[in-house]
Amino acid sequence: MTNKNIQLFVPYFRTEECLAQIRECLEKGWTGLGFKTLELEEKWKEYTGLPHAHYLNSATAGLDLAVRVLKLQHKWQDGAEIISTPLTFVSTNHAILYNNLKPVFADVDEYLCLNPQSVLEHITPKTRAVMFVGLGGNTGQLQKVEQICKEKGLSLILDAAHMSGTRYTDGSLPGKEADVIVYSYQAVKNMPTGDSGMICFKEAKNDEIVRKLSWLGINKDTFARTSGSGAYKWKYDVEYLGYKDHGNSIMAALGLVSLHYLDRDNAYRRQLAAWYDEAFKNAKNIHLVPVAPNCESSRHLYQILISNRDECLLALNECGIFPGVHYRDNIHYKMYAYAEGTCPNARAASDRTLSLPMHLKLTKQDVDYVAQRVKEYAK
Ligand SMILES: *Cc1c(COP(=O)(O)O)cnc(C)c1O
Repeated sequence: MTNKNIQLFVPYFRTEECLAQIRECLEKGWTGLGFKTLELEEKWKEYTGLPHAHYLNSATAGLDLAVRVLKLQHKWQDGAEIISTPLTFVSTNHAILYNNLKPVFADVDEYLCLNPQSVLEHITPKTRAVMFVGLGGNTGQLQKVEQICKEKGLSLILDAAHMSGTRYTDGSLPGKEADVIVYSYQAVKNMPTGDSGMICFKEAKNDEIVRKLSWLGINKDTFARTSGSGAYKWKYDVEYLGYKDHGNSIMAALGLVSLHYLDRDNAYRRQLAAWYDEAFKNAKNIHLVPVAPNCESSRHLYQILISNRDECLLALNECGIFPGVHYRDNIHYKMYAYAEGTCPNARAASDRTLSLPMHLKLTKQDVDYVAQRVKEYAK
């Protein structure tokens, strides 16, 4: 028996700073859309250099909106295809199904991201877009996929749920070529709030549309109506059948504090990853999932591949270590089972991948302890 308790993710909040931000909302009497959500949008644009950013209640909502807006813009027919990865959280692929489009799965590469060659092989006359997931904060071969999209006239959606703060080593932001980037600030992501996300369209027109769509299709937000002038602010129009997807000021308050420390926190994540790398040097039976050479990853995840993953996971639990699995091949799930057999690399990775504890409360001693145990159990 052990008294260790080393969890996969432990979100870290600067409590006093978060409370000060939230206090501002409470004292102002403004906890909804506007004010802090706008401030976070501005700060995110400044931080990323992206031209547009709209704050939402989740990245799941963001991915749905990304597909919906592009479908509207380009008049895609129901049944049109989007090439996507089977190695992701189901939000990514559900977003395609929500919009009556068809996920076509391409296989993954050594980074566990979409393999550009496989993307090429899955393009059909019905293909309209590619959905790329930067798994664990990795950029994989995103630039090659961008090139393919450009050459083939396909839209590109970047699911950057793990990529807050990921950069290329030259300092530039991954996904500048994408039509839309969606970030997640969910509770256990590397820039945590409670639940929320950001959608960043390349085109101003789409940013305008998503602001309406995220508030039931109404063409003016509450904040603008109460802070502007004029007596007929309730006489708004409703242009779309939108859902209620926008973010609120309490979540944005947490996001502002997380953003302030994002670079520092990611640097510590990379330090933890470097300690794991060092500890696993020359280790037998353990394959480290590499970070693309030109990528400075947010290191949302530290992933390894081992043949006896399930057995190893149980043994680690016995030692008070609680790793995770990112992800189970989505083709296992009922609604994606039509693609069975199409992505052998993703299936093999899904059976072997293990995400080791990765969070800001870990010490070098913790990393060494985890690595030692993994080395003992990996067959
Ligand atoms: C978490 C996650 C999402 C969904 O994010 P939410 O903000 O929880 O809706 C989408 N894609 C990936 C890859 C994720 O890990």
